[in-house]
Amino acid sequence: MKDVRVRFAPSPTGALHIGGVRTALYNFLLARQQGGTMILRIEDTDQNRYVPGAEEYIMDSLAWAGIQIDEGVREGGPFGPYRQSERKEIYSQYAQQLLQSGHAYYAFDTEADLEAMRERQKATGSDQQQYSSATRMTMRNSLTLSAEETRKLIETGHPYVIRFKIPENETVVLHDLIRGEVSVQTAQLDDKVLMKSDGMPTYHLANVVDDYLMKISHVIRGEEWLPSAPLHVLLYKAFGWGKDMPQFAHLPLLLKPDGNGKLSKRDADRMGFPIFPLNWTDPNTKEQSTGYREAGYLPEALINFLAFLGWNPGTEQEIFSMNELIQAFSVERIGKAGAKFDIQKAQWYNQQYLRAKSNTELATHLVDHLKKENITCSQDKAEKICDVMKERITFPQDLWEQGKFFFNAPASFDDGVVSKKWNDDAVKVLTTYRDAVEKLSTFDAAIAKETLEQVTASLQIGTGKILQALRVALSGMGGGPDLMMIMEIIGKEEVVSRLTFALNNLKIKVG
Ligand code: GLU
Repeated sequence: MKDVRVRFAPSPTGALHIGGVRTALYNFLLARQQGGTMILRIEDTDQNRYVPGAEEYIMDSLAWAGIQIDEGVREGGPFGPYRQSERKEIYSQYAQQLLQSGHAYYAFDTEADLEAMRERQKATGSDQQQYSSATRMTMRNSLTLSAEETRKLIETGHPYVIRFKIPENETVVLHDLIRGEVSVQTAQLDDKVLMKSDGMPTYHLANVVDDYLMKISHVIRGEEWLPSAPLHVLLYKAFGWGKDMPQFAHLPLLLKPDGNGKLSKRDADRMGFPIFPLNWTDPNTKEQSTGYREAGYLPEALINFLAFLGWNPGTEQEIFSMNELIQAFSVERIGKAGAKFDIQKAQWYNQQYLRAKSNTELATHLVDHLKKENITCSQDKAEKICDVMKERITFPQDLWEQGKFFFNAPASFDDGVVSKKWNDDAVKVLTTYRDAVEKLSTFDAAIAKETLEQVTASLQIGTGKILQALRVALSGMGGGPDLMMIMEIIGKEEVVSRLTFALNNLKIKVG
């Protein structure tokens, strides 16, 4: 078998979409599994759509996600340059080859000529209004003009494009690893432009030439490129590279979470989740978008989630590290059907990966955040907080968001809990409990519990009846992690002071 060489070939026209990360991931998994090479090629031949900063953004995003590139703009490599704008000469040389072999031709038509052709076609009732085998002989091109006329037009600086001459009456068959056999009649295809009037190649020419020169073995890309694949096959054949054709795999679309259709940035904005891996500010509109990284998604969780959008291992196992994905991945197990983008599933993965982290690791997230709040916290306290909170959080920032009460006494109390649970019994128990705690010489979760049970037993009030009142007095909230651990973490003095404050300020609701 040929060496596995795959490429991710984004165009730097904006931030990388999350679907692009999945495409890059599948390429990377195959490369690593087969001991192959992962290439990053920047397809920047469309100068009108070039967005400054997009290229760096793409590379930074892949690096954050843990998708390592072996050959590319930053890494270099034996098949460079890896930026298409630096390969212009190569493409024009290959376009010349097609002109000489009769597979391509010059076309001088103006916009008005093209419009007139479409009108003529419409008038004949044809549903084909393309520049194709049906119309090319009615146009101004090197097939209809003499060699002499053609040369003159070029020499006098007439703008021209180079078009591919689609063969007539052929069936193009391609074997897609995901879709199986795909076949198209050449009569359906138009004579695509290969070289534009600005001397730049189009996507099709540059993409095929580079895949060939870079010895790409598998083209794994989004389904939106499937309609271009027959043209690419014809280009390979026209160049005489038929036996070096890569294998194709067109990945299923990522679908909206609700309903049908392709997932768009608009859907993500509407439903309040990121569409880009990292924060991005559009340099033209100045619009800012939050990335998965900044929203608190762990790269390993996002990768695990993305891997399952279109692929499955055929077992029940859902948690896969990158190395496990590399082992288990196979193109054969990629589905044909579009994959619904379920952000809840991404959050579930994030929860699983956060839980699996050690308290020490999680504590660094918390301590970093506390620095921003100007709060100092011992490592020991931070680890204890992580230990009690980690089953409850979805994002690292939740350690702070949902655990502020570990550092600050509540500024307000949950009204619902107060009105239901702050009653005579609660006040009686908590007053006695506060006094008992104050007298203790050592204090931890077990002692806090034992003391509480002694108090409730002596007052003959069920402990369960006053627990929520105690919780709201200490944290301001009706729910949260283990109450005895909260007391151990905030410490005896704080328990006493918070209870005193609550007892002085909370009113029993009458009636
Ligand atoms: N430049 C194309 C894109 O932006 C590459 C498609 C392909 O992989 O062939 O997705």
